[in-house]
Amino acid sequence: MSTFEIHQFPFVWDDNYGVLIHSPETGETACIDCGDAKAYQAALDEKGWDLTHIFITHHHADHTTGVLELKAQNNATVIGPDYLGGSPIKGIDQRVKDGATFQFGGKEIQVIYTPGHTMDLICYYIPEDGVIFVGDTLFAMGCGKHFEGTPAMIWESLKKIHALPEETLIYCSHEYTQENAAFAIQIDPDNEALKARMVEIDLKRADDIPTVPFTLQTELATNPFLRANDAGIRKQLGMEEADEVDVFTEIRIRRG
Ligand code: ZN
Ligand code: FE
Repeated sequence: MSTFEIHQFPFVWDDNYGVLIHSPETGETACIDCGDAKAYQAALDEKGWDLTHIFITHHHADHTTGVLELKAQNNATVIGPDYLGGSPIKGIDQRVKDGATFQFGGKEIQVIYTPGHTMDLICYYIPEDGVIFVGDTLFAMGCGKHFEGTPAMIWESLKKIHALPEETLIYCSHEYTQENAAFAIQIDPDNEALKARMVEIDLKRADDIPTVPFTLQTELATNPFLRANDAGIRKQLGMEEADEVDVFTEIRIRRG
């Protein structure tokens, strides 16, 4: 099967990105989350794609405010997290748990549960295309804040992303890259790959070019939240002998 076409577009909320995923073979189109029905509908109209599915990552308003409206306009099927305890998302047709798989556009989509930022947060992974949509689990050189879970929980969740093939292309929901980089360099000041990436992203942002998506390989080299075992970071934090989860927690707390 040919690779899905992916269309990413910014919308005004909190530096958010929306994403459309289109199968040229079956004609099906999914979106990731929907914080703003008008912005999503405009993107669909621009591409000339008919929305068939909405994949929700977590309940935060910038990810769900437009779901019911967009669903009604397009008669779309809504897939979302199976976390009844803490997920107030309305309009879900199919609830999915960690490890669940379902078919979309002739391919298998895998659900990876990554709690911590919220307790209902899930990622959508498409192994055949080597693409994952992580919501607010991970950002370029950053990760989601622990609003509902703990830093330790986020660390466990990030290990699941860490375990994917290095060439995996990651789509996250926010353009927080420059502020993340400014923090990362404080934690990891001697990292040459990080310095090089900062130059690259500053050039992109000066031209208003998105820094999303990015590869897991790039994150492994530059994202301090995936590098709790790095000797330089441990030295910088004075935590040479600490457990990796404690190093991660220290980085997450310092980030604020
Ligand atoms: Zn969020
Ligand atoms: Fe968000």
